[in-house]
Amino acid sequence: SIQRGFQVNFEETNWDDIGGLDMVKKKLKQAVEWPLKYRNTFKKLGLRPPRGILLYGPPGCSKTTLVKVIASVSGATFLSINGAQLYSPYVGDSEKIIRSIFQRARASSPSVLFLDEIDAIVGKRSLGERGGTGNGDSVQERVLSMLLNEMDGVETATSILIMGATNRPDMLDAALLRPGRFDRLIYVPPPDFKSRKQVLKIHTSNMPLNEDVDLDFIAKQTEMYTGADIKNLCRESAMIALREMKTTSNVNMSDFLKALKIVKASLTADILTYY
Ligand code: ATP
Repeated sequence: SIQRGFQVNFEETNWDDIGGLDMVKKKLKQAVEWPLKYRNTFKKLGLRPPRGILLYGPPGCSKTTLVKVIASVSGATFLSINGAQLYSPYVGDSEKIIRSIFQRARASSPSVLFLDEIDAIVGKRSLGERGGTGNGDSVQERVLSMLLNEMDGVETATSILIMGATNRPDMLDAALLRPGRFDRLIYVPPPDFKSRKQVLKIHTSNMPLNEDVDLDFIAKQTEMYTGADIKNLCRESAMIALREMKTTSNVNMSDFLKALKIVKASLTADILTYY
């Protein structure tokens, strides 16, 4: 992706690029598309579209991809920032960056402003992780105040949707979750059997598959795999097929079985206790 001052151009994506997650997709469509489509009805009913939507759940389960799809299908400008960019010693004043990214979001609205790994941008204030004492003097604490200010300052009339993603919702400062800030929280779960089969279909759609490949079986064998793990599994299977230079140039079931021994599930029962 080309990045020009936090504005990101990315490949067009759509809902079908994400396997499973039907409920999540439905909730997002309601929260994002409905307020735009039925603007007048919303006004008449006194409904306020959400200011911020927070996606939370284990890593690798398509939170980032969902945000890109929203920006893609709504035709909005997509601005994105994460903790590493914000606190990079090369970019300087973190508070200024927050201010300027909101300025850009306003100037280029309708826009989606994505705060990726938001726990790394603004963790719990009391932790004073970046050398602070919890008295509002650390960089992270000042960034949090700036962010809250900017979020509160977004006029309801302007089409700026703020989206956040986190693997650790428990690490977020509660102030972020007050009404008018991140007022919709959506859990993005790991894929169940049916979803895993869809993810397998998506990531093998451009592969010549031998007819012995049994996606049902693979979906059953991949409990605790994330979508990202399944994507890796498919790539690994193709690499195995390539390495073995078989005369038939397609990927067969034995390639997948070998790949299953190499690409393991990244989820554990421990990780899932966070959600
Ligand atoms: P992280 O928290 O690590 O950033 P994430 O939840 O934002 O993870 P993504 O970056 O969106 O996850 O997904 C990682 C990769 O896995 C993407 O390239 C995506 O194509 C693939 N992937 C994950 N879930 C799915 C899914 N349900 N369907 C299709 N592809 C998926």
